[in-house]
Amino acid sequence: MGLKLNTPTPLEKNSFRGINFLLKRDDLIHKELSGNKARKAKYFLDNPPKNINSITSYGSIQSNAMFSLSYLAKELGLKFYYYANHIPSLLKDNPHGNLELALKNGMILKEGYANIKKDSSTLYIKEGVAVPEAYYGLKELALELIEQLGTTKKYQIFLSSGTGATALFLTKALKELKASNLKVFTTPCVGKKEYLLKQFKELEENSSFYPTIIDTKKRYHFGKLYREFYQIWLELQNESKVEFELLYDPKGWISILENREKFSNLVYIHQGGIIGNESMLQRYRYKYGELNENN
Ligand SMILES: *Cc1c(COP(=O)(O)O)cnc(C)c1O
Repeated sequence: MGLKLNTPTPLEKNSFRGINFLLKRDDLIHKELSGNKARKAKYFLDNPPKNINSITSYGSIQSNAMFSLSYLAKELGLKFYYYANHIPSLLKDNPHGNLELALKNGMILKEGYANIKKDSSTLYIKEGVAVPEAYYGLKELALELIEQLGTTKKYQIFLSSGTGATALFLTKALKELKASNLKVFTTPCVGKKEYLLKQFKELEENSSFYPTIIDTKKRYHFGKLYREFYQIWLELQNESKVEFELLYDPKGWISILENREKFSNLVYIHQGGIIGNESMLQRYRYKYGELNENN
């Protein structure tokens, strides 16, 4: 069956700019159902929704979640309706990246959140798969980490946040599993710290289940291009020999480097999403040309 996940994912030794770390290869969890989207959607894989004929979701026009859900729907034999608030005409005429691939999976793209249709025939999934069911798959990730890292040595686990659902539910699961040696850190990539806390609160009232939030000195806007993002992404690839994701990982690594003293035993979670790199790279190359890791 095409939906079998490759778990447990490997935990590999690596290093970057003098920081030795362990890399949790959730990017290898599945070829199409990527990284944390696979973890968040695992509940629906194990408990295929009954009596519905479609999945409905919404969000940005190039999102990793959109592509992952298009694949999930295809595999479950369901239609997939996806709403973007605005579809740039350039993309309408010439879809590429996640959008092109999602359309190939049969996604039905609609414009305008005001037009979203919810009824009992569709499984409605919030933007970024930030749903309570996501806890189920993140508990499996927590169990894998406990198995691989043990219960005595202290580790600092880092993962970047969009909706924050992955970091939140991983923290909660580790706490409920009493893995007090494993502490979770995250950084907001969409909006500021206050926005991320608000997102946590929508999914979980109890703030003792929240991860520790660290941030960068500079404020970065989601989806915008920054030379230092491109640069660190190239450098990461060159030094670690692993391809990282271009929207979330650069901010993650910059925040780690600026808060180095907190990470004596870093575990970095690679949350997948590299299918979306192609369209980001096109934009980066157009704006900055071909950089190499030294300039
Ligand atoms: C979707 C995604 C995130 C954000 O995950 P949230 O659960 O929404 O915080 C982070 N990194 C990558 C690579 C992603 O694809």
